Parts: sequence; C-alpha cells; structure tokens
Amino acid sequence: MARILITSALPYINGVKHIGNLAGSLLPADVYARFQRSRGHETLYICATDEHGTPAELAAAAAHQDVFTYCEEQHRLQHDIGRRYGLSWDWFGRSSSPQNARLTQHFADVLEDNDLIEERVDKLVYSLEDKRFLPDRYIEGTCPHCGFEQARGDQCDNCGRLLDPVDLIRPYSVISGSTNLEVRETRHLYLQQTKLAGRIRAWLATRTDFPSFARSIALKHLDEGLIDRGITRDLAWGVPVLRGGQIRPGFEDKVFYVWFDAPIEYIAATEEWSDATGADWRRWWRTDAGADDVRYVEFMGKDNVAFHTVSFPATLLGSGEPWKSVDVLKAFNWLNWYGDKFSTSRGRGVFMDAALELAPADCWRWYLTANSPEHSDSAFTWELFQSAVNRDLADVLGNFVNRICKFCETRFEGAVPAGGEPGPLEAKLYADVAAQLADIAAQFEAIEVRKAAQALRALWVLGNEYLQEAAPWTAIRTDPARAAVAVRTALNLAALFARVSAPVIPFAAEAILGALGEDFPPAWPGGDVAAELARLPVGRKIEVPPVLFRKIEDAELAEWRERFKGAGE
Ligand SMILES: [Zn+2]
Repeated sequence: MARILITSALPYINGVKHIGNLAGSLLPADVYARFQRSRGHETLYICATDEHGTPAELAAAAAHQDVFTYCEEQHRLQHDIGRRYGLSWDWFGRSSSPQNARLTQHFADVLEDNDLIEERVDKLVYSLEDKRFLPDRYIEGTCPHCGFEQARGDQCDNCGRLLDPVDLIRPYSVISGSTNLEVRETRHLYLQQTKLAGRIRAWLATRTDFPSFARSIALKHLDEGLIDRGITRDLAWGVPVLRGGQIRPGFEDKVFYVWFDAPIEYIAATEEWSDATGADWRRWWRTDAGADDVRYVEFMGKDNVAFHTVSFPATLLGSGEPWKSVDVLKAFNWLNWYGDKFSTSRGRGVFMDAALELAPADCWRWYLTANSPEHSDSAFTWELFQSAVNRDLADVLGNFVNRICKFCETRFEGAVPAGGEPGPLEAKLYADVAAQLADIAAQFEAIEVRKAAQALRALWVLGNEYLQEAAPWTAIRTDPARAAVAVRTALNLAALFARVSAPVIPFAAEAILGALGEDFPPAWPGGDVAAELARLPVGRKIEVPPVLFRKIEDAELAEWRERFKGAGE
C-alpha cells in the first residue's frame, strides 16, 4: 500500500467555473483519487479556492459585498457544486485561511534569511480617484501603434503588440474610467529566481515520472531564462507582508502576490484538513516526517505549469527546508467550445451549475473523461455529448445492466440463480475480461484518462457480446441450467462494470451496486476473474435499478444549442 497525495489547480474564487475547468484539473484528479482509493492506497485529495488578488476585490465590489463575505459565499457555492459533481475532495480549503497566511509568511521569512529576497523600487500607475495602484490589465488607453482605443496596459488586442502602461495615449482606469492617473514609486519584494535556476533545473532532472508535456513546458521556461519575480502587490486583500512576525515597515498597504500564496495553499489546505480532523499534515508534506514515502501528483491546465515547475519549486527549494515536491505533474490542454475559447464575459460555453440542469453529473464526467483535452485541445460539441450519453452510457452500459436485471426479475424471481456450470463461453469471457481489466488499470495508473475511458467502454462491449451469445432468453426454454449460468455471470459482470467504472461514473456505479446488494465505494477487483464473476452469492435478492442514463433527444439538443448561443459562431 502506497500513500498518494493529489492536488488539482485551485479554482479562482470569482464565480462558478465552466466545464473546461472541470475537464482540465478537477475531474481527472477526482477520477485518479477514486481509482487509487479503490486499489487500497492511502489517498489524500486536496483542493481549495484561490481567493486573493484584484479580480476578487473587483468582483466583490461589483456584487456590493465586502471581499470577505463575497469569498465566503463563493467558496460555499463552489464547494457545493463540486460535491454535486461527485468531486471526492478530502478537503476543500480556502487560500484566505489563517493557516495559509502563517505558512506564506514563514516561506517569505526563510527565503529572505537565505538571501533570496530583496526590496526593489517599482514605478507603477496610481489612480487618484480609485486611491489604488492599477495592475496592467486594469489600465486601458489608446494604442500608440494602431490607434485602437481599448488597448490594455500589457497588450493591444487589436494589433497584438506588447505594451507598457506608460506607452498608452490617454490612459484610464478600467475600474472607474478616471484619467486622473500618475506614475508613482512603490517598494516591492522580489524573489530572486535567477539565483535558483540551477537548483530548479537539477530538481526537474530528478522528476523522472513527469509526462513529457509538462516537462517540455518547464524546460522551455528554464531555457528562456528565469527572471526575479515580484511577490508583493499594492492591495488590501491578501496575506499581510510580515518580517519576523511584525508588519514590514513600508509594506502596511501591501500584501503577498496571489501567485506566491496560492500554491502554498496546497500545503496549508492539508493543514486545515489536519486541524479539522486530527490527522497529521506533516507526514504528507515534510520529508523529515515521513513524506518521502508519498507520491505527489498534481493536476492542472497547461497555463499553470510554469508556476508549478518553476515558481512554486523556487519557494520550496529556496526555503532549504525538507518539503515534499511534486512527483507527477499531469497537465491538460484546453477544452474549447466548438473550436473557440470558453468565455464568461461573452456567455460562450456551459458553466458547471447550468450543465447539471441539463444532464446528471455522470454524463458530464463520462463525456469530459472520454473526450478529455489530454494530449491536444478538444472541442466540445452538443452532438458529441449526445453521442457519448446515448451510445456509450445508455446503449452499451445502461442497457446491459437493465436488461439482465429485468430478465432476472421476471424469470428467476429477482434472485441470483443457482445451477449449471460455467463452460467454454465463460472461459473465453474470463480471459477477455482479465486482459481488459489489466488494460483499464494500466491506463488509470498512467493517468491516461481518455484511454482509460476507451478501455472501460471496451469492457462493457465484451459484456454485451457475451450476453448476445449466451442468450439466456432462448436458453431458458431448452436448457434452464445454461440460462442460469448466463444470468448469474451477467449479473456479476454488471457488478464488475460498476466497480471499475466507479472512478469515472460514481453515481451510476453506486446505483448498480446498490441494486445488486454490493458495497459502495467498491474495491478494485482481484486478479482471479472467475472468482470475481462468481462473487454475488447465489440466492441473493437483487433489484432492477432505476433508469441509469436517460437518452438525450434531438429536440433537447436543438433547445440547448439555442439556449447556449455562441456555439459554432
Ligand atoms: Zn495596437
């Protein structure tokens, strides 16, 4: 038995996430966690909301709430939605927790003790009307190159040129629209990543289990050369900047940058879990407290890889303390909306709350796993979604389970039938199923989620083929013992399908296992397939489960296409 620590990228606090976020970090992390638990490994799946930074402050202001109340409400909302998707977090924390503040301040202290932090003077745009410094993307103005009037402070969306806010003609604050801006000097702390480049590269070389996608992104950033990184901001909402337990002089109105404290929350959220449950977070994170035995797997979208292979390791390595670092970094590409990006502001795409009104969580979990943006971007379409639900889930899996349970109910009084002996047909089935189970486990283990879904579907197909050939509805007229063997075997197949599909479709798996009188969550089947397919005790009463997967009608599809406009435009 191993110990496996799993984190998925922290969803930002400002609002419900779209299904692309689900596909690219939260869901595959959950699938992997459920798989490893079923294998009997001690598994800890940690996530949290990422709550600091300017967007949270502005979203709170737009909602006419103070930022603390806003974050509290949004956290509860995201927690609730995650649960409704079956995300089996052991803890869903908050980066605004006192644990994270303490730990963030601790890291800044030891990094400075190790001569890796220095104060520098920056020149930044200050809005007199907003009474705050403006981050680059909160300043807009006219592009000096093409005359576009809504060029952002960091880049012109019209001509694509990179800009500095001071280049803009007639700059204004995005927050208030005010043009009453001036450039002011402000002091900030810089983490000297340049000093750590060699150590980060050496550390990366020891991460032999990184998938090549994540490794290549990390190497690209190292090859381009690291820069020293500002880790404080002129903001009110965030972790206060302390030095040795006291507010750092001159930093009264500053906080740590959200990208400094957010990854530290992986550790702090584990501490939150520890404080709430009496567990010991150190044995997961401190190699001097047993964490050397832990396999740590991170899940995230490709845009987050640099922060997790350079910035966060810089914090951990620079501390000189024995912290656990990531062993496997699983990165995902984008899920697009008909070949275009999801967009909150333009209402393009489906968000996690709206999606659940259309179809149950398992339908989304299945679709987003089978069509995961794993090795390239993948495009969401309603047609593909319908096909995944109707053909894979309803026709192949749902129909098999329902058919055999109904037949058992009408012809065998709803009890696992006795009689007969397995024959050549069953022997072939055992061999085929054994090979398929090995493939499924190997794909889950390798976190190849698309291939895992394909392998699951192939297993369900085997069951359908078996039932077709064994044809108990014919056999029962001529050879009742033969029919009994087929029904018994097929009922056991249904249970087996549920057990190994549970990581992806936990709700359906629970319904199937419940109908067959089996426990949930299930353990992964053992190697003796003949024994696994004779697991249900003869005579046990079973039930016909409710319809597992309702088919999506063409009319519904048309309605959804209209309702979620922007699709295909
Ligand atoms: Zn321009």
